[in-house]
Amino acid sequence: MIPLPPNAPDWQREGYPHLWLPYTQMQTAPAPLAVVGTEGCRIRLADGRELIDGICSWWSACHGYNHPHIVEAVAEQARTMPHVMFAGLTHEPALRLSRRLATLAPEGLERVFLADSGSVAVEVAMKMAVQYWRNRGDSRKTRFVSFRGAYHGDTMGCMSLSDVENGMHSAFLNYMPMQFVTDIPSDEYAFAEFDSLLGDISRQVAAVVIEPLVQCAGGFTFHSADVLAELYRITKKHNLLFIADEIATGFGRTGYLFACNEAGITPDILCLGKALTGGAMTLAATLATADVFNAFLSDDAEKALMHGPTYMANALACAAANASLDLFEREPRLSQIAAIETQLESDLEPCRTAPAVRDVRVKGAIGIVEIHPERFDRIALRQSFVERGVWLRPYANCIYIMPAYTISADELSTITRAVCDVASQIA
Ligand SMILES: *Cc1c(COP(=O)(O)O)cnc(C)c1O
Repeated sequence: MIPLPPNAPDWQREGYPHLWLPYTQMQTAPAPLAVVGTEGCRIRLADGRELIDGICSWWSACHGYNHPHIVEAVAEQARTMPHVMFAGLTHEPALRLSRRLATLAPEGLERVFLADSGSVAVEVAMKMAVQYWRNRGDSRKTRFVSFRGAYHGDTMGCMSLSDVENGMHSAFLNYMPMQFVTDIPSDEYAFAEFDSLLGDISRQVAAVVIEPLVQCAGGFTFHSADVLAELYRITKKHNLLFIADEIATGFGRTGYLFACNEAGITPDILCLGKALTGGAMTLAATLATADVFNAFLSDDAEKALMHGPTYMANALACAAANASLDLFEREPRLSQIAAIETQLESDLEPCRTAPAVRDVRVKGAIGIVEIHPERFDRIALRQSFVERGVWLRPYANCIYIMPAYTISADELSTITRAVCDVASQIA
């Protein structure tokens, strides 16, 4: 393993030999940076340096770190009731949150299942879809249609939906259920093919699953609202369920509160996570329409939804989420996102001409600089950004910027300047 820097704090020196890091080749990867505090868009390191954060902890800390309103809500909740089991018992933070999510989400999504992480929310969506058909008397519909370049999480069902052959989960190919993974259609011909594919397989399929408008961690590719609307139309024509995974795109990231809003669609099932608590606690939600929910109503106990995480609807997390929604109500988040979009567009434009750059694209508070794969070295890139006082974590040939919505124009300039500098210097 690569040794820690000589000035590493004792807690890192003592603990690191016992740690197994995510998605990290521990023999060759540089040691992670030791963090001692966060504030707004800043990360404070143990060695005294400070980084401006361009990705807000996998785009979850959308109001900036340590927002006082969220911190206060969590502290207050911790004093009354940090957690109570959610089977046979219920509490105000969860019910208030469920009502608010049902009000904000695309019209018709009226039931909320609160899970503890994004991956679990997607697993729950898949189980809802399979059991929906089974409860209606069709137990053959157990497979899913998903799209190349998708990322839906790390657990078994989620992995099977993601791009398993090229993606980060290819080691588990023989271990996973097989789904129908296809390309997102981009022209009339491809839509006709998609339509005929669904026609051929619809008897086995429970649902079509998509990250609407932006495929994030699978490679940061965009499709238009028209494409999304057409995919929805064809899915419904074949009488399949449509699952929108908005764990990345939800809460304003693409410029609308939810990406589905831009296409004017209501999915049958919607997954939310990441920015749901403003980055303070882990929490996710799976929302369903009355049609989906009603298929579980019966005098047969086995038709109930068969899922229930120990920490579901954790009260601290629900308090954080309610506080985050307060901020969306009180503060001009959508116009801040529009301003970030404008600035990303103009600031990143000069990158386009750099020889190593393959594409520059911006949507909402997402800025992508795609590098030619053979010139992409994510560890070297990450290092160059840290040297410039910026925290970015290039991935899948892309330097992606997904900052807190509260980032100042100056802080964002520091990030985009670093990106343009670094991109133009790639050999
Ligand atoms: C991050 C992400 C997930 C998984 O969420 P976790 O909380 O990491 O389990 C699922 N879907 C999408 C689109 C994501 O971006």
